[in-house]
Amino acid sequence: MKPVIALVGRPNVGKSTLFNRLTRSRDALVADFPGLTRDRHYGTGRLGERPYLVVDTGGFEPVVKEGIVQRMAQQTQQAVAEADAVIFIVDAREGMTPQDSLIANYLRKTGRPLCLVVNKAEGMKHSTVVTDFYELGLGQPFAISSAHGEGVHDMVEHALELA
Ligand code: GDP
Ligand code: MG
Repeated sequence: MKPVIALVGRPNVGKSTLFNRLTRSRDALVADFPGLTRDRHYGTGRLGERPYLVVDTGGFEPVVKEGIVQRMAQQTQQAVAEADAVIFIVDAREGMTPQDSLIANYLRKTGRPLCLVVNKAEGMKHSTVVTDFYELGLGQPFAISSAHGEGVHDMVEHALELA
């Protein structure tokens, strides 16, 4: 069974951009994953020879304005529950936001293995970019650029080690 990696974060942080980069044209049919529901975006990524399944969640969008836990779209909750590891994406350009803290608290409670990723870090000093996000208490953040591909390989390698 391929490990399942869910991409989670507030709107506009680059989840779909990362999804597209990881899966390229390899959009997967999920017929061989009967346990997984179909109303999300699934694709297959590959690290070397090793395939993994990526889930692009959009479910936080209507949610984060108010209390996260009750109002979080069920599909995102389910994607997290089904994931072997969660890539939690934040935005280097915007920095830490209250929504990021809410999502972090939620994700921590789920007990899923988490990889904290600071996206849109191209052209920025990675060690500086990640500093603010240590306060989320999710360990060492990875600085990446989904748009340019920078840092993505190492980040995926780490996420798959957690899975
Ligand atoms: P989502 O709402 O989390 O799925 O975010 P999207 O993938 O739709 O991206 C939101 C916006 O951020 C788009 O304008 C993307 O082009 C932009 N974006 C995504 N990744 C990067 C990145 O690595 N660097 C920069 N500068 N912009 C990015
Ligand atoms: Mg999206």
